[in-house]
Amino acid sequence: MTPLLQVDKVSRSYNETPVVAGISFALKEGEILCLLGPSGSGKTTLLRLLAGLEQADSGRFLFDGRDLATIPPHKRHFGMMFQEYALFPHKNVAENIRFGLERMKWSADRQQQRVQKMLSLVGLEEMGERRIDELSGGERQRVALARSLAPQPRLLLLDEPLGSLDRVLRDRLAGEIRSILKSQQVTAVFVTHDQAEAFAVADTIAILRQGRLEQIDSPETIYRRPKTAAVAAFLGFRNLIDCSRHHPADFFYPLPPGLKRYSGRLLIRPEGARISGQSTSGIDWPQLTGKITKKQFQGQIYGLEIAVHDMQLHFALPIDPAPPEIGETINLDINPQALVELEEEK
Ligand code: ADP
Repeated sequence: MTPLLQVDKVSRSYNETPVVAGISFALKEGEILCLLGPSGSGKTTLLRLLAGLEQADSGRFLFDGRDLATIPPHKRHFGMMFQEYALFPHKNVAENIRFGLERMKWSADRQQQRVQKMLSLVGLEEMGERRIDELSGGERQRVALARSLAPQPRLLLLDEPLGSLDRVLRDRLAGEIRSILKSQQVTAVFVTHDQAEAFAVADTIAILRQGRLEQIDSPETIYRRPKTAAVAAFLGFRNLIDCSRHHPADFFYPLPPGLKRYSGRLLIRPEGARISGQSTSGIDWPQLTGKITKKQFQGQIYGLEIAVHDMQLHFALPIDPAPPEIGETINLDINPQALVELEEEK
């Protein structure tokens, strides 16, 4: 299937500093892509280029096979949703949702039906007459989503839409946004710096760093096999062994065959460890021995910090059997799948 959107080597600089640097990727119809990266990595600029609010210095966007440079922004039929709701405070909920439909000169009947459908889609059936300033932050974001979806955009662009909400609401709405977009088969590009949000919303995650695309993969692959140390660090992984400084054999017995000559950086995912002798599948798993320096019961797991050589390694262990106490030595079996050889930084 040909992609709906093709981004082809797009670059943009400000004052000779590249902010978006040669980015290429493709998006299928109905796919939700999250642009994920730290603040300043170029996410918003890329979104604005896509919307036509900025011009690229080079490269192009093909949408449905057409070069977007030939289509003015208002004719692209893209929807947008931003962090600041940009709702009309003096209009009520239904009027806000209706706004784009009036501009497109839909008939009054069709407008009415669509507004009702959008209200029920975002769970605000009874709130059509409410004023915007009588709504909570979460309700406003639902109205903003309903308003951006009402005209059936061919692509929805969302820029940190949940950025102003507290953590709990943010997590709940992220999941809801995904179900709503999926139920309507909306194709979307969603900008966030929050990895939990990206995991909750995305079919595909594109990790940006300093204007470059570091990795684009499914959420599972991004988590299981981050490509570079930068991606791993951004995801919050802390067990990064520099094998040019430490030979892997200093850590593991027996040494997994692939690691014999490895001299790059090695990630050990924290959930890949089991207390030795407890794992069912661990016959061939490499073992690691260290002294427990921290042990924290976190409900679903024990968070363990272990000193091995001059490094502190962190693991998330199942709560049964409970690990030994701080100061004691522990032997861990490490799932080879949780050992990830990282690529050199570009
Ligand atoms: P993100 O959305 O990932 O936080 P942005 O795309 O907003 O990143 O910004 C990337 C970089 O580009 C930042 O360093 C920002 O200061 C710079 N930048 C963005 N817009 C402009 C502009 N209009 N003029 C100059 N610099 C800009």
